[in-house]
Amino acid sequence: MTGKPTLATTWLDGCSGCHMSFVDLDERLLELAEKVDLVYSPLVDHKDYPDWVDICLVEGAVSSEDDLAKILKLRAHTGTLVSFGDCAVTANVPGMRNPIGPTALLERAYLENATLNQRIPLDVVPALLPMARPVNRVVEVDVYLPGCPPSADLIYRVLTDLIEGRTPDTTGARFGR
Ligand code: SF4
Repeated sequence: MTGKPTLATTWLDGCSGCHMSFVDLDERLLELAEKVDLVYSPLVDHKDYPDWVDICLVEGAVSSEDDLAKILKLRAHTGTLVSFGDCAVTANVPGMRNPIGPTALLERAYLENATLNQRIPLDVVPALLPMARPVNRVVEVDVYLPGCPPSADLIYRVLTDLIEGRTPDTTGARFGR
């Protein structure tokens, strides 16, 4: 135990672009590493979510049964849960499939448009939920960090505020930027 707050980042139905923006913090990552312990993330080699994490950035919408199980578990084991990027905040790109419905979507992708191996993958791909939903439609969200992706500057500001015990002010942050 270092006494530092713990930080996790994760993705649900997203493109990983929000995490790429996190990496764009560049040398500020070293500064953050002095202030927090990154305990779970696609960027580190921890496989299991800890019993408790102080701050968690969640990228992506809740689109599949796996996403649903994951966000419920994270919520139960996280102090401050941050909707990280527009897909988490509004469903954004994953939400574009909502008017179509999962069955028609899968048929279009894996049957009608496939020239080889026309088969809907059922064994290894998590089952889709009827709709892709923003994170706050499934669990309580503490902080919204908009943007597609959020800028590295905004990520830095929000994380620094949270680590230092302030309520982040994302006034002026625009969806889709
Ligand atoms: S908000 Fe934009 S960058 Fe982030 S996961 Fe969604 S599409 Fe990708």
